[in-house]
Amino acid sequence: MATRAHNFFAGPAVLPLSVVEAARDAAYDFAGLGMSIMEISHRSKEFDAVVQKAQADVLELMGLSAEDYAVLFLGGGASTQFAMLPMNFLHRKAEYINTGEWATKAIKEAKMMGETVVVASSEDANFNYIPGNLVFSGDADYVHFTSNNTIYGTEFKGTPDTGDVPLVCDMSSDIFSRELDFSRYSMIYAGAQKNLGPAGVTLVVVKKSWIEEKAKTDIPTMLKYKTHVAKESMFNTPPVFPIFVVGKTLEWIKSEGGLAVMQERNEKKAALLYDMFDNLSDFYKGAVAKKEDRSLMNVTFRLPSEELEAKFIAEAKTLNMYGLKGHRSVGGCRASIYNACPVESVEALAKFMETFYAAHK
Ligand SMILES: *Cc1c(COP(=O)(O)O)cnc(C)c1O
Repeated sequence: MATRAHNFFAGPAVLPLSVVEAARDAAYDFAGLGMSIMEISHRSKEFDAVVQKAQADVLELMGLSAEDYAVLFLGGGASTQFAMLPMNFLHRKAEYINTGEWATKAIKEAKMMGETVVVASSEDANFNYIPGNLVFSGDADYVHFTSNNTIYGTEFKGTPDTGDVPLVCDMSSDIFSRELDFSRYSMIYAGAQKNLGPAGVTLVVVKKSWIEEKAKTDIPTMLKYKTHVAKESMFNTPPVFPIFVVGKTLEWIKSEGGLAVMQERNEKKAALLYDMFDNLSDFYKGAVAKKEDRSLMNVTFRLPSEELEAKFIAEAKTLNMYGLKGHRSVGGCRASIYNACPVESVEALAKFMETFYAAHK
């Protein structure tokens, strides 16, 4: 194999090497069966064990119980959840916080299903901050927010307090990156391809009592949470291979020491880059307005000109660093430093930022 690249892609993104190796092995021969994981029945006892272990590991990492929460592995990406959530739970009114493009897309889907109120937004400054002083009506069916804004590099540092109103979060780009009180959420969802595994599966963790009491039943079978909860995520053929890889990533997180260790590492990695903006501020400008809103996962920044940004990204490639181009809607540069991004990669990038600065300041 070629040397592992320094991978800063925003998604699909870097996976732990041991997970990639396990995926390679299982793609050829799974559990000594003489068949690939892709060639066996999703109803086989071997695959059943994979799903059950992954569900148990999700709950363990979140500190939740199988009595209270269901763990689903669904298709359609996080984007399908934008529609499925209001389709199942919007009866009268839903409240949303708009912190970027993904939140905007979630709001668009909810509006098709019923009254949707945007209670706070940072659109006035192209989403470069997290709105404060959140006020909720207290009588919505649910409140939805996006914990980490992949494109802009902003992140909620705490959990909004919605009282008794069910709280739902799109955690696609920061799930399992830090410790959180997951019991405050009625539903959490995340497309796997940022911090969990390959594209093709979406993790949904939902409170069973909320499903029982409030989820609609007069909607299409596959788009009904009740269907998937009742069948423990095995109503139809699930995304078998992506689930296997997610399971391996969960095992990796646990073996490394869990969410406390992930958080400690992620804070250390992020600081290496944010320190550059603070120390070399005449050249590198962080794209996030307030320091306290800076993401641990997606570090967004600008250089003095677009020409220098293009040169920076091109030169980084010659040093085996990939994925540093900012999202097309905001431009600039972005280093995505998810759980599986080794500290060595971030150190290499920080060093390159220093040498590039010295050559072009
Ligand atoms: C990438 C991303 C999405 C979209 O996920 P898909 O699985 O491609 O639908 C949604 N929300 C956030 C926060 C993301 O980063």
